[in-house]
Amino acid sequence: MIKAVIALHGGAGAITRARLTQEKELQFVAALSDIVVAGQQILEQGGSALDAVTEAVRLLEDCPLFNAGIGAVYTSEGKHEMDACIMDGNTLEAGAVAGVSHIRNPILAARKVLENSPHVLLIGEGAEHFAAGQGLEPVAADIFSTEERYQQLLRARESQQTVLDHDGAEPIDADKKFGTVGAVALDKFGNLAAATSTGGMTNKLPGRVGDSPIVGAGCYANNANVAVSCTGTGEVFMRTLAAYDIAALVEYAGLSLQQAVDRVVLEKLPAIGGSGGMIAIDNQGNVALPFNSEGMYRGFGFVNDAPNVGIYRDQES
Ligand code: ASP
Repeated sequence: MIKAVIALHGGAGAITRARLTQEKELQFVAALSDIVVAGQQILEQGGSALDAVTEAVRLLEDCPLFNAGIGAVYTSEGKHEMDACIMDGNTLEAGAVAGVSHIRNPILAARKVLENSPHVLLIGEGAEHFAAGQGLEPVAADIFSTEERYQQLLRARESQQTVLDHDGAEPIDADKKFGTVGAVALDKFGNLAAATSTGGMTNKLPGRVGDSPIVGAGCYANNANVAVSCTGTGEVFMRTLAAYDIAALVEYAGLSLQQAVDRVVLEKLPAIGGSGGMIAIDNQGNVALPFNSEGMYRGFGFVNDAPNVGIYRDQES
């Protein structure tokens, strides 16, 4: 019998004990646990994997610690451009938005694209217009702004780098929010789903889109194999089709989920400069939360079990 399970991430990067106060660490652990529990409850009540990942990512976007909306990173022009994607492993339907600046919860817009449009990916103003027509009230772009992210932009500009929201100089400001979040789930009916949402990378060029809203790169779900949500240097995850690569290795090469994620996250991505991690669940309910960076905010929980969360490399989950 299938045991439903949800896993989530709040981004990977240079996350070490030295960079987080104990108090802040406890807040992250509590937030991760609460959101795992919220996902577990949906699954326990017979909810779908799609609903569980939508709600988990919406909560992560809204959480003051892991907000892919408010607290999103800045582009080189000092603006916010957010991306999100959701995929239903049962139907292989997907919805995504990219380069949006006026949608409070990009994941809800992505879900609307999945459900109520004939398309997979809408960008910029078109996506915002569609979302507004679907009842997602537009918000002013400056609601996403934080002073800390602005300082991060100035540092990135100085070093002429494009950086992960949690990498670069002083990446972990314990009071601040992190941009990239994701969730994957398996429901009791055997359906897989994945969702990813991000502010992208600090100092990215205006119009740059990363892996997060790209099906098969930063987000993928297929009942035949796996559900995956990625976080890291998006360009490399795009060039390797990192999420789909897990599916292919499991389905065509017969690798176990753990073997597949190890191959991709520990070998293939770093070989071409890919830093970060992913969360993955296969259709048997195996869970993997690998990363090649110093840390990754992460958690998972089977229904009726206690949530299991981790931040650093030396932790079990
Ligand atoms: N993968 C995201 C992007 O490239 C960034 C991240 O995961 O932090 O847009």
